[in-house]
Amino acid sequence: MSDVLVVGSLNADLVVRVPRFPRPGETISGGDLQIIPGGKGANQAVAAARQGASVSMLGGVGNDSFGPELINNLKQNHVDTSHVQIDSHSATGTAIIVVDSNGQNNIVLSAGANGKVSPVGVNAVSFSGYKLLLLQLEIPIETVTSAAQQAKENGLRVLLNPAPAHSLPEKLISLSDFILPNEIELSLLTNQSVYDISSAEKAAKMLLEGGAQNVIVTLGANGALIVSSKQVTHINTYKVEVVDTTAAGDAFIGGFASALLQNKPLEEAVRYGCACGALATTKFGAQPSLPMKAEVEEFLNQITATNP
Ligand code: ADP
Repeated sequence: MSDVLVVGSLNADLVVRVPRFPRPGETISGGDLQIIPGGKGANQAVAAARQGASVSMLGGVGNDSFGPELINNLKQNHVDTSHVQIDSHSATGTAIIVVDSNGQNNIVLSAGANGKVSPVGVNAVSFSGYKLLLLQLEIPIETVTSAAQQAKENGLRVLLNPAPAHSLPEKLISLSDFILPNEIELSLLTNQSVYDISSAEKAAKMLLEGGAQNVIVTLGANGALIVSSKQVTHINTYKVEVVDTTAAGDAFIGGFASALLQNKPLEEAVRYGCACGALATTKFGAQPSLPMKAEVEEFLNQITATNP
């Protein structure tokens, strides 16, 4: 039995680099296709597992060659996949990503089997024995809500990363122990512009009024902000040489979840999440950039050694 259950998406990211984006109807040549395991659910499962948490994934892949590859990738990252179903009527979730020479992305997302993860499928799995549930919004929202409900009935703490941004049913907000949006997601959830710490605080308080218990806003290079009825606390992140910020949020959530499981106080858990997020920005890509526990510990030791 694992401590963490992730109910979410698995995607094959198909990435091609091009000198520039093609015009409608135009064909251009790109670089070699890279096939990279992704999906916010799978990324967060791997992020938490790399921080030493025991993790199970509940989700779906299609009846094509990507499905087994994504399952194997999770296994290689020590994530239990016994609740990943192979859906014979769907394709595996896919993100078709074209990157131009300026590093700009064009992405087409095909939900495939992720769109078929149903409340019935979730209800068929016992949540008893897990401690934390990690949720994102790349599977149907009614499934996310149903998973949160089942988690509360079984005494799990619920962490909801509302990404990609989507309006949230009131019930899902109140079932979540922690809601963890970035600035863009918080802005879309509250219809407020969020651009600094004080605007993030104002918007997060609107989520509290909507029934949220703890909101943790990730603010990129500005760290993170904890907002609850008890506190508003800003946590600084660490200074690093940024290469690519992809998956910083996923790394943050994996680190935060693993620290919560070790019963670290909230601020310390957020600080640990910041260290994981910061380290993820120092490497290119999504899953390849998610740090290992030993790397985070070494990074934090070096910082303590230089700032005793
Ligand atoms: P997302 O990837 O979801 O957009 P953020 O960009 O807010 O999320 O990043 C998540 C966390 O990663 C931040 O709270 C911060 O701790 C860390 N982080 C992100 N960007 C940087 C950066 N440029 N420098 C240091 N830490 C960063």
